[in-house]
Amino acid sequence: MKIKVFSLILLSLCITFFSSSKDKIAYDCSSISSSLTKATSNVSISKLVRFQIRKTTSSDRLNIDDIDFHEYLNFSTRDDNMAMGNPSNATTTASNINNYLMAKPQFSLSYNNSKGIPNWVSWHLSSAWKGSALRSNCFAVDKSLPSSFYQAVTTSYSHSGFDRGHMCPSEDRDFSIADNTATFLMTNMIPQSPKLNRVTWVALEKYCRTLISAGDELYIISGGNGSGGSGSNGGTTTTMASGKISVPATCWKIIVVLPNGINDVSRVSTTTRIIAVNMPNTQTVNTLPWYNYRVSVDHLEALLGYDFLSNVPLNIQAAIESTVDIGPTN
Ligand code: MN
Ligand code: MN
Repeated sequence: MKIKVFSLILLSLCITFFSSSKDKIAYDCSSISSSLTKATSNVSISKLVRFQIRKTTSSDRLNIDDIDFHEYLNFSTRDDNMAMGNPSNATTTASNINNYLMAKPQFSLSYNNSKGIPNWVSWHLSSAWKGSALRSNCFAVDKSLPSSFYQAVTTSYSHSGFDRGHMCPSEDRDFSIADNTATFLMTNMIPQSPKLNRVTWVALEKYCRTLISAGDELYIISGGNGSGGSGSNGGTTTTMASGKISVPATCWKIIVVLPNGINDVSRVSTTTRIIAVNMPNTQTVNTLPWYNYRVSVDHLEALLGYDFLSNVPLNIQAAIESTVDIGPTN
């Protein structure tokens, strides 16, 4: 059990939930009104709770018309963007210029100063991150990079033949304007060929959001590998912005799929669905659908030298990292 929602009609009262250790865990629903109003209190706790309803003033009448308890086993939350691990052991030491950890509320990443792009970006996705904020399109320099680091500007990709390809997608962070704005920081971008960014990569991003609509939560990690892509200018491009930004040969992504719940790492089992892909950064990538590019996590670990899902017990990693996903694709 994860969540209880409690609703009732009230006039003037206060409802307080206590955990079994008598700590207040939620309080809500104070109202003074001459008409009946509806109050709801959400409690997210995985142990027993008890509750209290009482008047908050001596003169008002307490009038409870109806009371309901609902239990939502499938309630979504926002969880740690790096819960599954830190694939490259990135650190926040400024001298660690090519594996520099940046943890933001919306996503975490390892920045590579020599490449001018992230090594990887890691984020949690559930319906709790979703809302109705509009796509902000406000690409911006990431001013939280150490000042000695190369900082891509919004025009760094202009005329390169490559798009500013979001790792954590704009549409995965539209709960608020602040969340959406964060995804437009240049540290969340990798040069992607237009056919990759706008066709094949985005198709997998959309598939991920169908999973959260169906009651799953995801842990996603993505980045680039190798050197040299082929964008809309043709040929092979290895760098742009006067050599400051590297163009990867492929873009990879790993997705851990769990039903909504708590204690996520401990719920990863040998049967947990893992979708891993590695897509060429070219203008012909779209000749095949996204699911044709599925690979094993072990394949990506060998290519990149990272340990993905390192917070998962080794015996479970061994099982889920060696297989290629054959699950549904739409
Ligand atoms: Mn994109
Ligand atoms: Mn691993």
